[in-house]
Amino acid sequence: MAMQAESGNAGGPAAGVRWDLSHLYGSPDDPRIDADLDDAQQRAEAFAERYRGRVASLDAAELAEALDAYEALQEAPSRAGAYASLLFAADTATPRNGALMQHVQERVTRLQTVLLFFELEWVGLEAEQAEALLKDPALARRRHLLESMRRYRPHLLSEPEERILAETANTGRNAWSRLFDEILAGMRFSVQRDGETRELSEEEVLSLLYEPDREVRREGARALTEGLKRNSRVLAFLFNTLVQDKSVDDRLRSYPVPMRSRNLANEIPDESVESLLSACVDRYPLVARYYRLKAKLLGLPSLADFDRYAPLPQAAGTRSFDEARRIVLDAYGDFDPRMADVARRFFDERWIDAELRPGKRGGAFCASTVPSVHPYVLLNYTGNLRDVMTVAHELGHGVHQHLAAGRGLFEQNTPLTTAETASVFGEMLVFRRLMGEESDPGTRLSLLCGKLEDAFATVFRQVAMTRFEQALHAARREEGELPVDRMSALWMDANRPMFGDSVHLSEDYAWWWLYIPHFVHSPFYCYAYSFGELLVLALVRRYDEEGAAFVPRYLELLEAGGSDAPAALLSRIGLDVADPRFWDGGLALLEEMVGEAEALAEQAGG
Ligand SMILES: [Zn+2]
Repeated sequence: MAMQAESGNAGGPAAGVRWDLSHLYGSPDDPRIDADLDDAQQRAEAFAERYRGRVASLDAAELAEALDAYEALQEAPSRAGAYASLLFAADTATPRNGALMQHVQERVTRLQTVLLFFELEWVGLEAEQAEALLKDPALARRRHLLESMRRYRPHLLSEPEERILAETANTGRNAWSRLFDEILAGMRFSVQRDGETRELSEEEVLSLLYEPDREVRREGARALTEGLKRNSRVLAFLFNTLVQDKSVDDRLRSYPVPMRSRNLANEIPDESVESLLSACVDRYPLVARYYRLKAKLLGLPSLADFDRYAPLPQAAGTRSFDEARRIVLDAYGDFDPRMADVARRFFDERWIDAELRPGKRGGAFCASTVPSVHPYVLLNYTGNLRDVMTVAHELGHGVHQHLAAGRGLFEQNTPLTTAETASVFGEMLVFRRLMGEESDPGTRLSLLCGKLEDAFATVFRQVAMTRFEQALHAARREEGELPVDRMSALWMDANRPMFGDSVHLSEDYAWWWLYIPHFVHSPFYCYAYSFGELLVLALVRRYDEEGAAFVPRYLELLEAGGSDAPAALLSRIGLDVADPRFWDGGLALLEEMVGEAEALAEQAGG
């Protein structure tokens, strides 16, 4: 149960599970923060002194040396940035945390403006000279990094222009993003229950949609809508501003379509993204087929929007945080003991913050911080099965980032498209572990349905959200500032085709785009989830076929981090993501799972 107030258990089932940020810095007042930033600033200025205006005259060995220095001096500021943002995520309500984040952000920006010349000069090199340098063995380890920097060549502005944009972003786009977080964290939703009114956070009100009692779900949906509506003027203004900001940025940088900058960052061509999206849209009928089964299982004639996450009758109850830990470590350990060893450190060494606290950021994430420290995981653990999957998910990221730390600051992290590989794979391992422990058809059915619902949320829902963003950005460019109703209509248009006639979407549902952080923080992020999930389903099939032989290759893939383009890393394990039929493999597996669920339903019912 999500409502801590009700159980009298402040902090929820993971009460007391707090991370120890002292591995980064001692406190917000730790003098090492500014000392590190001062030192980095001095080193950056010395670096600029030495290399400014000279990048074109460096030979391969000198360029390699410069890159090493460039990477090394960014370690400390990244550490300070990670510390400030984790501190803020853990407690957004303390003004000092927001102030520290702002302070570090400004200092890091100041430092980066000194360093900007380096990348610009490298990118400014003529193709012939750059290619000659990249062939040199002295740069072999840096080839991918240097090549991928040059992919932005057609979109970079002059140095003074880049400086202005970087400096004004803190009072522009970054400030709007932070305002969104603060509004959402501060929002309270009035829920009527048992004749009482309770003021719930976003996290708590959303968790009501997972309650077995239909009236509770209905009330949760009503309260969510009411809260969003109350804040819709300022949120819609914020959306309009950020969408317009992106449009200006795209125009200045000559990006022809709104998605291009994201696709470039993901190192995936527009056509591959479009073939992923349309392959999923073609399978939308599968979503309707599943929700018709779900209505039957719930004993309802048809589903309302607030019924989508309703637990099935046999769904297992709550899991303590210790149980979640055991399940995840067992599942990881079955695959490979090394994976469990890394995951265990998150629990044992306090790299996780899992309890519920007022002012804490909602949702869950894993932050890689810097290679010399370790990643941190933030959760809001309420104890349902979905939360166990979230633990598996975030620890997948954690294992991935930890294994890839050897690649250094610049190549530890992958682009978004493959960033979800280990997280979704980890979830799949936990799912199979849970299925293996169960023999009762009813329980198996509810587990399978849970997995299917997660997969649908990851594949199809993200595709619908991407279609919404495409429509939103296009409409803003054509029509100017959009009234909130217009944006809601676009949201409904993007969602209806997915549900078909299987789920009734009410007027309330029209407002439910307003709280989704990806639209604000990272436009067009969402399709990376679909990419990741369908990719993982392909990896799972490979694991099923090859067994133990697959394990070292998979770990090698994780250890490679972002040291090469995703397609190149994946081709090493025999997957071709450029092939349009590639996506059908994962989608077919989902279809099989729906068929299996239908069969289990017959069994459990009969
Ligand atoms: Zn993730």
